Formats: sequence, structure tokens, C-alpha cells
Amino acid sequence: MNFEKIKAVRELLSSPQKIVIVPHKNPDGDAIGSSLALCFYLNGKGHSAAVVVPNDFPKFLKWLPGNDEVLNFEKQNSRAKEKLEEANLIFTLDFNHLGRSGQMTPLLEGSKAIFVMIDHHQEPGDYAQITYSDVNMSSTCEMVYNLIEYLGDRDAITPEMANCIYTGIMTDTGSFKYSSTTSRTHRIAADLIDKGADNTSIHNLVFDTNTPSRLHLLGCALKNMVILEDYQTVYITLSQEELNLYGYQKGDTEGFVNYGLTLDGICFAVIFIENKEEGIIKISLRSEGNFSVNEFARKHFNGGGHMNAAGGKSDVSMEQTVSNFLESLEEYKTELTQLVR
Ligand code: 5GP
Ligand code: MN
Repeated sequence: MNFEKIKAVRELLSSPQKIVIVPHKNPDGDAIGSSLALCFYLNGKGHSAAVVVPNDFPKFLKWLPGNDEVLNFEKQNSRAKEKLEEANLIFTLDFNHLGRSGQMTPLLEGSKAIFVMIDHHQEPGDYAQITYSDVNMSSTCEMVYNLIEYLGDRDAITPEMANCIYTGIMTDTGSFKYSSTTSRTHRIAADLIDKGADNTSIHNLVFDTNTPSRLHLLGCALKNMVILEDYQTVYITLSQEELNLYGYQKGDTEGFVNYGLTLDGICFAVIFIENKEEGIIKISLRSEGNFSVNEFARKHFNGGGHMNAAGGKSDVSMEQTVSNFLESLEEYKTELTQLVR
């Protein structure tokens, strides 16, 4: 973040503001962690800040400090709308196109508030007056930490904020293993532990929350896995019927897509998950090396994300979606077979 932008944020925050913080639809650990941490920070500085999420998020994130104050746009629509209408400043976190805010999109598009974007995804849009976008960052949580530091307030990081920020860095880096993890990421994590982040508890609360039905659903997903050796690719499908059979709860399929990448020689893994209620197939894509799933998701599945982790959707049937996927793979055959793990 350059000096001009830091100065602009400082000026915006120089008097008490009514602020709403919005993460992306289907918020993950980074989206929720960064939103809650920023909310604590802003309220601590005398502003009136609230987090409004487009829709619900998984149970394994509901222990996070500040969780009880979060407004769900779907479930608490009138209160959430009121907050948005009152706001003169809106921070959008962990996404960079207003369409990623789901049902909140029209309200955000029509809002007169000043927007500040903090995000690490590729190809940012230009809706915000202040854009803090950096694709080299491990997580939006790391960027919120940076922002607080740039504003000279590192000492204002409370144990609650430290726990929120640590959670998002941990989930977005696959527990500090993805290539976006730098020595600075580790230094920040160390500082957060010094400031009260309980790293062992956070790990347990996020990852050791399996239920028998989730493990059975994982079994089903792995059984459904198709290996396309010639393309160094695997894909998994989960139909709505299968999700129902194993009592699917939000968040249950988190991480399933990564299993394919643990196979020797596999560089591209995809999971297709049917959502009958929304009438879509939600798609998660992961890669290793130089194969850009951001570009693949953007071009073929109306999505986007990062080089090695992206998402998208399809509004045709599962069968047709998989068939479209197989067809689009042809275009990448040479590229995919040349990838070395
Ligand atoms: P996941 O597969 O875990 O849902 O998401 C992987 C990454 O892609 C995350 O950074 C997420 O924000 C992004 N992402 C997921 N779905 C979409 C989508 O539909 N559109 C865009 N632009 N990004 C997505
Ligand atoms: Mn993120």
C-alpha cells in the first residue's frame, strides 16, 4: 500500500464514521477473520462498525470472537439493509468484484458510501475509491495486519483481533504451506501469537471438527474421483442426492478438492458440487505449478480467484457441466502434460 493510499485511509478515519464491512458470499476463514479483526480495530478507534455477511458461513468459524454481532444479509435482511443504508464508509474484504457479494450486489452497486477494497485476488475491479490489492499476499488477513501497522497501530491489536487474523492466515495458506507463505507471513503469525493468538486452539477449532457424516461424505467424494492421467487431472462430483444422504452441512466439503493433488503426477484438481436450491453446480479448482486455475475458472466457469486456487459455477446439469469441462480440457492438454510436479 503506497503512502498516498495510507494517507487517504488515515484521512477517512480521522473522524468517527458509520462503517460496514462486507466479505464475499460463502465466506471462508480469511473473509470472516479479516472482517472481524477490522471491525474490532475500527470500533476500538471510536467508529461505529459492523460486519454484514451476504450469507451464512460454516460452523467451524462460529467460535471466532465477534461472531455473535455479525449480521447475515439473508437471515437478518432488514437490519442488515439498515446498516448498509446508514453507512458512509464500506470496506469490502477478500473479493474484488461486487458480484461476489451475492444478493447484496444491487445494494452495494447503488450505495453512495465511500468504498475501500482490501483483497489479494487477481484482476481487481475499479469500484472502490481506495483499492488495496496485492496478489502476492497470503491472505486478506495479512493485509489487514499491514493496514493496521501502516496506520501506526500495531500495539492496538488485541487478543481477539490476533485470533481472527491468525485464523484467516492459517486457512488461506493451508496452514502455512502454500507458496504465498513468506517469511513475513511467519513473522506476522509469530507477532500474533505474542499478542494473544492461541495457535493450537485455533487449529483444533477449525480442523478437528469432523462429524461421522462428513467423513462418510468425504468417502463418497473420494469414491467418485475420476483420474484423467493423460491430462494430469482429477475431478470429483457430488450430487445433491449424495449431499442429502450424508446430511450435508455448510462447510462439510471444505478441503475435499485438495485430495486429488496429493496423487503423484496430478497438477489439476476440480470438484463439482450440486446446489439444487440455487440451481447451480459450484466448482472449486486447484493446481500446482504454473497452470492458472484463475484463468481457467474465468474463461469456462464464470469465476476466478488465484493462480492455484479458484472457484466458479455452472447453471447446467452436472452431466452437462462435466461434459463441458472435459471438452474445455482439450485446449490445455499440451500445457497440462508438460507440467512437472
Ligand atoms: P473455493 O474453491 O475454496 O470456494 O475458493 C477458492 C478461491 O476462489 C477463493 O479465493 C475464493 O474467493 C475464489 N472463488 C470461489 N468461488 C468464486 C467465484 O465464483 N468467482 C470468483 N471470482 N472467485 C471465486
Ligand atoms: Mn483470501
